[in-house]
Amino acid sequence: MSGARKTYIKSFGCQMNVYDSHRMADTLAPEGFAETTTPADADLVILNTCHIREKAAEKVYSELGRIRLIKEQAAREGRRVMVAVAGCVAQAEGEEIIRRAPSVDLVVGPQSYHRLPDLIARAERGERAIDTEFPVEDKFDALAAPSRDATRKRGVSAFVTVQEGCDKFCTFCVVPYTRGAEISRPVGKIVAEAERLADAGVREITLIGQNVNAYHGEGPDSRAWTLGRLLHRIAEVPGVARLRYTTSHPGDMEPSLIAAHRDLPALMPYLHLPVQSGSDRILAAMNRRHTGADYLDAVARVRAAQPAIAFSSDFIVGFPGETEEDFDATLALVEEVGFAGAFSFKYSPRPGTPAAEMAEQVPEDVKSERLQRLQRLIDRQQAAFNARCVSRTFDVLFEKPGRYAGQIVGRSPYLQPVQVMADAALIGTIAPATITEVSANSLFGTLATPASMHQSVLVEAGA
Ligand code: SAM
Ligand code: SF4
Repeated sequence: MSGARKTYIKSFGCQMNVYDSHRMADTLAPEGFAETTTPADADLVILNTCHIREKAAEKVYSELGRIRLIKEQAAREGRRVMVAVAGCVAQAEGEEIIRRAPSVDLVVGPQSYHRLPDLIARAERGERAIDTEFPVEDKFDALAAPSRDATRKRGVSAFVTVQEGCDKFCTFCVVPYTRGAEISRPVGKIVAEAERLADAGVREITLIGQNVNAYHGEGPDSRAWTLGRLLHRIAEVPGVARLRYTTSHPGDMEPSLIAAHRDLPALMPYLHLPVQSGSDRILAAMNRRHTGADYLDAVARVRAAQPAIAFSSDFIVGFPGETEEDFDATLALVEEVGFAGAFSFKYSPRPGTPAAEMAEQVPEDVKSERLQRLQRLIDRQQAAFNARCVSRTFDVLFEKPGRYAGQIVGRSPYLQPVQVMADAALIGTIAPATITEVSANSLFGTLATPASMHQSVLVEAGA
C-alpha cells in the first residue's frame, strides 16, 4: 500500500490505549498513512475503545453513528473511508460490532495491532477482517517504532508500556478477559525505547501497565526484574528527568519499589494507588486480595520512604451487596488517607464477570447518591491539597503554550497543570515556579527567582 492517505485515531479509556494508538500510527506510517486530527479528512478512522464500564462501550457506538455520516458523505464524493474498531470493545464484542454497526470494516483486538496493515488489505479486498486472537508472536517487537519527528510532535512527556494484561481477576473487571494474561516486556527493550524517546526530547516517562507493579520482565542478567529495579535503570537514561508509573495494585508495593521512592529523585512524589473500597467485606467480594488495613499499610510505607508523596486512587461505589456501613468504611478510609485527587465510579456490571451475576445489585439511585457524597469529600480534599501549594515553589515541566498569549503550561511533580507567563522557549524544559493562585483544576505561578526559591525551602522546613 502506498500514497498519501490519512488516518484519524481516537482513543477512549486508559493511558494504555493512548500508547497503543501511537504505536498503531507508527505502524501505519510506513504503509503511507499520515495522521490527521480531523475525522472528515481521514481515509481510515480507528476508534481505540474501552470496555471498562458500560458507558465507555456505549460512547463508542454513538461515535460510530457520527463516523457513519462522514463515511456516507465521503462515498457521495467518490472516496472510500474505512472504519476500524480496536481496543477492548473490539476484543469483547468481535463480530457483534459489525452486526450492530455495519459501517465498520475491520475489528482488531489489543494483541493484534501489528497485524493492522494485513487486516486493512483484507478489508479493502472485501474479505473478513476481524482479529481478536492472542497471537504467539510478540506484538511489541512487530509494531514499528515512532520516527523522531512523530515523538517530538507528541510532546515532552511519554508513556512506555512495560506490562500488559492482568492475572488478578477482580470480580468486577473485564481487563483479564480483554487484555489477557499478564506479560512483562524485557528490560533491554524498555530501556532502548526510553533511550529513543529521550534522544527525541522526551523528559518525562510514565511506565504503564494494567497492573504495572506486578512487573517481572527479564533483565540483562536473565533474571526477573522488579518494577523498582527497572525504575532505577530507566533513571540512568540520559535526558530522562522525571519518572512515573501507573496503575498499581496495593498488594504489589514490593520493597524495591518503595525504596525507589526514597532513592530516585527523578521518581515523582505522586502515586495513583487504586483501593476501590474501604470495606473488607466488599474488598473480599471484589477478590481484591487486600484489606483496608493492608492499603493503609502500603500508604504508610511509601510515606515513610518519601514524605512528600501525595496519593490518588480509584473507587467503585455500589458494588453488589454494598451496605451503608460498607460505604461509610470507604468514606473513613478516604478521611484517613487524605487524597490529592481520585476517580470514583458507580459499579457497572460487565457481562462475563462474576460480580455481574451476584445477587443484591445496588439500585441506581443509591449508587448515584453515594457517588455524590464520595465525590464531594474527594473534591474537598483535592481543593485543600491545591490550596496548600500556594506560596510553594515547584519544578515544572513545561509542555505547551497556555490558553492566553504569553502563557505557557506545564505539570507540577503532583501532575497539576501550572500556568505561568513566560517565554515559550522554556517549553520542553524544567524550571521552578512559585505558585501564586489556585483554581479547581489548575495552579497559577510565576517563574521563581533564586531568592523566592530560598524562601520556599525555609517555609517547607518550618512547616
Ligand atoms: N488495574 C487497576 C487496579 O487494580 O485498580 C485499574 C484498572 S481499571 C482500567 C481502572 C478503574 O476502573 C478501576 O480501578 C476501577 O475503579 C474502575 N472499574 C473497573 N471495572 C469497573 C466496573 N465494572 N464498574 C465500575 N468501575 C470499574
Ligand atoms: Fe482489573 Fe486492576 Fe483488578 Fe486486574 S487488578 S482485574 S486490571 S481492577
